[in-house]
Order: sequence, then C-alpha cells, then structure tokens
Amino acid sequence: MTSWQGRNVTVAGLGVSGVSAARALAGLGAVVTVVDGGDGETHRARAAELAEAGITARLGDAETLPEGTDLVVTSPGWKPTSPLFAAAAAAGVDVVGDVEIAWRLRGPDAAPWLAITGTNGKTTTTQMLASILAAAGLRTAAVGNIGTPIVDVVLEGDDAYDVLAVELSSYQLHWAPSLRAHSAAVLNLAPDHLDWHGSMEAYAADKGRVYEGNQVACVYNVADKATEDLVREADVEEGCRAIGFTLNAPAPSQLGVVDGILVDRAFVPDRQKQAQELAEVADVRPPAPHNIANALAAAGLARAYGVPATAVREGLRAFRPDAHRIEHVADVDGVAYVDDSKATNTHATQASLAAYESIVWIAGGLAKGATFDELVAGAAARLRGVVLIGADRALIREALARHAPEVPVVDLDRTDTGAMSEAVRQAARLARPGDTVLMAPACASMDMFTNYNKRGDAFAAAVRELGASA
Ligand code: ADP
Repeated sequence: MTSWQGRNVTVAGLGVSGVSAARALAGLGAVVTVVDGGDGETHRARAAELAEAGITARLGDAETLPEGTDLVVTSPGWKPTSPLFAAAAAAGVDVVGDVEIAWRLRGPDAAPWLAITGTNGKTTTTQMLASILAAAGLRTAAVGNIGTPIVDVVLEGDDAYDVLAVELSSYQLHWAPSLRAHSAAVLNLAPDHLDWHGSMEAYAADKGRVYEGNQVACVYNVADKATEDLVREADVEEGCRAIGFTLNAPAPSQLGVVDGILVDRAFVPDRQKQAQELAEVADVRPPAPHNIANALAAAGLARAYGVPATAVREGLRAFRPDAHRIEHVADVDGVAYVDDSKATNTHATQASLAAYESIVWIAGGLAKGATFDELVAGAAARLRGVVLIGADRALIREALARHAPEVPVVDLDRTDTGAMSEAVRQAARLARPGDTVLMAPACASMDMFTNYNKRGDAFAAAVRELGASA
C-alpha cells in the first residue's frame, strides 16, 4: 500500500467520484487540491465543504497543473485529451482514476474483485452477480460505476466484504493500470463513447484492460468475437481460463442454454461429458435474450469464484432489474407497455426490439452521432408502427423510409412536456391486442428530459393516463 502522507495530489473535478477520492486521500494524509473549471454557486458550496476537511478547491481553472503536484486523479467525464492531463504528462506526473486509487488503497487481505464491463448490460449483470453472491451467503456489494464510489467501499476495510461485484466503465479502465481482478467479463462491444476514446480500437483496448492479470477466469461472449479477441490478447495469471457464454448449447468451458435451462459446462469436474443445471430461463427477469446472456455472464463469474449452482438459481430469482430497463409498466386493452428508457444507444435498443414479436416502437431524442440503418433493417419485420419524438427523429425517419417503407410512422413535432403523452396515445392507436408498445429510444434524452429516468417516468405516467381513460 502506497503511503499518502504529504503527497501532493490534484483531483480533477468536483463531482461525486472526485469528492470521494479527495476526501479519502486527504484522510490518509495527502495534500489535496481539487480543480474544476466551474465557478458557480454549487461549486462554491462544495468547495466550502471541502475546505473544512482541509482540502483546497481551485475553481474556474481546469487546465493548469497546480505547482508541486505528484499525482493527478481524474474523474470519469474528463477526456484523456484534457489540457490538465497534457500538462501532467509534460511534467512527468502520473494520471489515474478513482478505481486505480481504490485498488491501491486495498489492504493485503481485501476482498477480491469480480469485474464487469461491456457496452451494454453492465449494471444489470453486476446486480445479478451481487444477488447470486449474496444468495451463496457471501458478504458482497455491487460497486464501481454504480452507486457508492468504490473508494468509499474499499475504505470500509479488508474485513467488510468477502468479494465485490465491480461494474467498470471504459473510462475507469482507461485510468486503472494496476487493477488485477480475480475474474472479469466483457459482455459485448459496440461503438459508443468514441468521441472520448478517439477510436473503436482505443475503446476496445480500454475495455480489454479488465482481463489483465485475471487469476481464475476471463469470461467472454461467444456471439461477440471481439470480446474473445480481448481475452486472447490479455496477459493473465498462470492457469486462468477463458470461459465463454452463449445462448446456444455450450461447448466445453462454456455456459449456455439447453431446452430452456441455463447450464454450466465450464466449472464441472468433467466438462467433456458433464453439464450442471444452474437455473431456468424463466428464473431470469425479464427473460429477453440479451438478459439471459447477462445472467450467464454473472453466473460465469460467480462459478469462477466457487459459488454453488443452487445459489445461481436463488440469486437470479431474487434479482429485480432497476427501473427503466425493459420495465413492464402496464397492460391496457391487451397491449403491453414497456419502458426501456435506459436504451440510449442503438445496441441496447436492438436487444430490446429483439425481445418482442410485434412492436409499436417509440424512439428518438439525441442521436449522439449514431446511424440507424442497421437497427431499423433488423427490426423492420417486427414493427407494427413507430412514433418518433425528439430532436434527431428525422435520422430515424429516413432510415425507416429506406428499410421499412410500409411501416406506419407518426412524427411528433413537439418537445413540450405533453409530448410523451401524445406519443403514448398515438402508439395506442397503432397497436393491436397482443402487441407491445416499447419505448426504447436509441437516443439520449436530454433534448426533452433531464435524464433517462425522467423520460421513463413521463412514459409510465402517460400509460397510466391511458389506462384511466380506457
Ligand atoms: P449499462 O450499465 O452497461 O448501461 P444496463 O444494465 O443499465 O447497462 O442496461 C442498459 C441498456 O442496455 C438497457 O436499456 C438494456 O435494455 C440494454 N441491455 C442490457 N443488457 C444488454 C446486453 N447484454 N446487450 C445489449 N443490450 C443490453
């Protein structure tokens, strides 16, 4: 463990992870300065709180490196090209993230980490894993890119947990060079956040860091070859195994599905001849294909840690997905209304469109540079109709004209607070009994809503209005 006494640490950003890292390091004796480009009221209030803990906040200048800095700690939103990091590089000063700090703060007997990354499904899979570990009687928590900052969890001490389920974003991995997980999974890889990473190769390489130094298992997605390639490129501990998960029947060293049963053909005494039943597809909520994949990845990590098969079933049964992730809101007149507001990119939306047979799709918002041809072409046969909302809806409309010209489209040219109610009413008009109205926008929400939670809440409220008037 590094001694922090008297070290001059500069923390980038007054956000949640920055503040938590600053407090932790100051508590260990470091001399901490937090820098932030903002200088508004909230910034000043936070700076005043930090001052009480002996931490300096420098507001209004996010670019220059404070004199005497020994180490820079970043926050997730900061791009690698930020001038502060260039200044650090020029001065020969290391730049690390909150996960790296947490890793360095662990004691010799700290709980091992089971790490999860990927473009989509991280939070769900991490929570499933924590649920399985808890069902096995282990003291655990879902941490990292979810909820409690990971530094705070590590500071609870080596005895607080047996094992941690750690969700890691590509940003966090980029800045965590010495992290060595017990086992790790990359769920899938699709273009996302390329403005931050610079290229798909750089993004994949950062995701791949999660496998570096793994001790027991590198869990990959058989259907996504890029994840397997990352395992091959990783430098792991002697004896660490590559474990695949698949929605098909598993080969040896894989977990998969046979006749509606999730089975393990990796962590059994004779994987040539044996497979262990873990759970039924119906134990996974929602039982959509991508979510079964998430469950298999979680099970793979849990089994790598030695958890018995019965705990996998119990943990999956006990798991409840977070709000706005393929959340069944209500049935009205024989039509199911599903809120997948968290589907903020095309890869996520593709997964939820694949989960239903006949869909009225509510889509649109901020496209973040995405294109929609592949998504629309793949889903065309399942679309009963489409209702478009938000700033970049023309991009989706054009893709629909190219690949699904027969599908009726309602283009809502309004972004006021009543827009979602109208979208739901229009969707109800298009739907037939047995259909699903799916709000999985493939776009960010900030053109019309504060965030995806608010967008999902607006959808649910509109569905309730519809139910009340039905
Ligand atoms: P993350 O933490 O990676 O953003 P979440 O579990 O919060 O992932 O899910 C985000 C969105 O991605 C949801 O809308 C969900 O429908 C979709 N999703 C979840 N798992 C997968 C997967 N394995 N593949 C593709 N999309 C997925």
